[in-house]
Amino acid sequence: MKYISTRGQAPELSFEEAMLTGLARDGGLYLPAEIPQLSHDEIAALAGQSYEEIAFRVMWPYVSGSFSEQEFRDIISRAYAGFDHDARAPLKQLNENHFLLELFHGPTLAFKDFAMQLIGQLFQVALKKRGERVTIVGATSGDTGSAAIEAFRGLDAVDVFILYPHGRVSEVQRRQMTTPADSNVHALAVDGDFDDCQAALKDMFNDFDFRDGVRLAGVNSINFARVLAQIVYYFSAAVSLGAPHRKVSFTVPTGNFGDIFAGYLAKRMGLPIDRLVVATNQNDILHRCLSGQGYHKGDTIPSISPSMDIQVSSNFERALYYAYDQDSRAIAALMDELKAGGFDVSQGALQALHESFDSGRVSEDETMAAIKSTLASSGELLCPHSAIGAKVAEDQRKSDVPMITLATAHPAKFPAAVEKASGVFPPLPPRMSDLYERSERVTRIANDLGTIQEHIKGHIPA
Ligand SMILES: *Cc1c(COP(=O)(O)O)cnc(C)c1O
Repeated sequence: MKYISTRGQAPELSFEEAMLTGLARDGGLYLPAEIPQLSHDEIAALAGQSYEEIAFRVMWPYVSGSFSEQEFRDIISRAYAGFDHDARAPLKQLNENHFLLELFHGPTLAFKDFAMQLIGQLFQVALKKRGERVTIVGATSGDTGSAAIEAFRGLDAVDVFILYPHGRVSEVQRRQMTTPADSNVHALAVDGDFDDCQAALKDMFNDFDFRDGVRLAGVNSINFARVLAQIVYYFSAAVSLGAPHRKVSFTVPTGNFGDIFAGYLAKRMGLPIDRLVVATNQNDILHRCLSGQGYHKGDTIPSISPSMDIQVSSNFERALYYAYDQDSRAIAALMDELKAGGFDVSQGALQALHESFDSGRVSEDETMAAIKSTLASSGELLCPHSAIGAKVAEDQRKSDVPMITLATAHPAKFPAAVEKASGVFPPLPPRMSDLYERSERVTRIANDLGTIQEHIKGHIPA
């Protein structure tokens, strides 16, 4: 499989090259040149298989040129061995025709472990074969960074630097980034918000001297390997509710549009998905856009669902690429307009988006109310992100199609908001109950590209 950039001006790469490079050199995002198809019978045959087996069958067409079958099976097996639920992504019923897909049984208690644990193993195998070393820099609103540090700690071919907005991540998220003692992982607390961290990361990728000098690699949700890993649980969940013999819908708490874009690819691969519903908090650029108001940046307002406090959804470019009929020049022009504040989506493209996507926005008060009412009606304690999904799903589900809400984090990752909403303090799982006692290691750093670049250069082997 060859990978192409959404902006059409970067070289075509193999899966392995696209994974190791992250962002394309023309500023675009890599996508497979063609979307692999699974037939009705192939999808039906996934029923009853282990998560790892489904992962192999769904992802193999995307990676087959870069790894042997056995290598890839071993990578998958190591990636999910640290999850503490045999199903990896278990489904629970919340209500009539409404299901919760629990994606928080990995080592850092958020769905990002599904992709990051896989990427850690993929990088290790690929770099070992090449005899190379890379520097991974990531920007995080909280969960990506902890998942990356957990996935790469102790690997000798990789140094990891994670930029997070100082004071804007939860204590559990911060501690998961600052307590690992391995010398190859570094947490940087930036004086800015998440969009500043993401902008600094993009600028580092566009500074080719720096990029080539430190062998920069990215594992943010723009990395196609991240998206790929997330396609799997759409298949596992849909099949366990009767697909491909009946349709299902998904509601996805969304920030950078990576998770829900994986659902879009699952649909394009042949999985009968009826609706993909985007659920946003008060930072609602995606909801506004899908409601026909164009894609215009606002100010990021901190919320109790900080992993969705985003005003520019980097993976949305991938959805636009298909909505604009794979017209990379149109995408490049829109992204230029975005630098100046935003753009309007053409009628045709909006119609194409509406063939798959719906959306809803949930306020802070509604989020708190949803945590409380879901606990009362089903006994499930949801994190604020998952509660936003559940609320939008309840508003939009139809009686004849099962709705699956993605539970993106464990409630214990956001204990203050959960306790305030429900009166119940969510305890950490026993395996990480000493998190609050471990000592922290973090560098506070100015929101300044040059300062951040110097710090990175000074902390990798010469
Ligand atoms: C990252 C994250 C999201 C948003 O996912 P995207 O792929 O950025 O849309 C939602 N909830 C939680 C808990 C997250 O960590």
